Amino acid sequence: MQRRNFIKDSGLCLAGLTILQDLHNLTKIDDHRKEGVVIATWNNQKAVEAAWKVLQENGSALNAVEEGARVPEADEKDTSVGYGGYPDREGIVTLDASIMDHEGNAGSVFFLQGIKHPISVARLVMEKTPHVYLAGEGARLFAIENGFKEENLLSEGSNKEYQEWKKKNNYSPVIGPKVHDTIGILAIDKETRLSGACSTSGLAFKMHGRVGDSPIIGSGLYVDNMIGAASATGLGEAVIKKVGSFSIVEMMRTGHSPKKACKKAIERLLDIKGPKDFQVGYIALSKEGEVGAYSLQPNFPYVVIREGKFELKYANSYF
Ligand code: ASP
Repeated sequence: MQRRNFIKDSGLCLAGLTILQDLHNLTKIDDHRKEGVVIATWNNQKAVEAAWKVLQENGSALNAVEEGARVPEADEKDTSVGYGGYPDREGIVTLDASIMDHEGNAGSVFFLQGIKHPISVARLVMEKTPHVYLAGEGARLFAIENGFKEENLLSEGSNKEYQEWKKKNNYSPVIGPKVHDTIGILAIDKETRLSGACSTSGLAFKMHGRVGDSPIIGSGLYVDNMIGAASATGLGEAVIKKVGSFSIVEMMRTGHSPKKACKKAIERLLDIKGPKDFQVGYIALSKEGEVGAYSLQPNFPYVVIREGKFELKYANSYF
């Protein structure tokens, strides 16, 4: 009898402790959300800091992710995004970007040339047109009509690399380089609105006209304000085939944590035919402010700011 009571009491104690722990976790989550959370692919420290600043000034998650993505777009040294991005095999820099807000609105530009901030053009597509995607010349004209300046985006450094590449590579596009820098950036603001942005110059020395995953809603980026958001970097062709970001958010909907959902989405890449030496990295952020990431190959860094604290982390990887 005593033993049974003891077991019953300790069971009750354990249940009590679990409830307390849950309450503690909930408060922690609420603390995160009081100030917002930002996560981005690669070591985009300055980008998450810019986004965080917007959140601290009571700006929206949408303004935060746009502001964040604009940082590497303007950075000449980032050779995978915006100005300074490596050109295609014709020597032309072509940019892809997408953005989504907490209401499920979306806008993208594909194959945009001569405009430094594709993410801001993508936002205008979302806010000022009845469309979701604008490509190529149409996107460029739309940007100019809306006051964007045309610029030469091929930096001296990237042109030098391109000239070297031309000598050695016999015009064959590079498939699956292991170095990527595309920015995917996700944020939740003080009002628990989720938004995301993704911006890239795509694969270095790609075929002219090639578009990757980054501007494709559901592949490079997806946001569902009820559940969470996800973004991708790496070999776009692989991400597109598996509709990576959408599948992560859907797995979060069934109860998986952001990290587990990213891991499962990475595992889905394994049945893609051909060698597996390409890289894909996913990041995700839940409505509760929990972050996660996972990659196919090791050494995929991502950056987070929560409660004012910046962290550079390395995702676990399949290989
Ligand atoms: N995902 C990008 C693309 O395929 C490349 C990258 O992440 O660097 O266009």
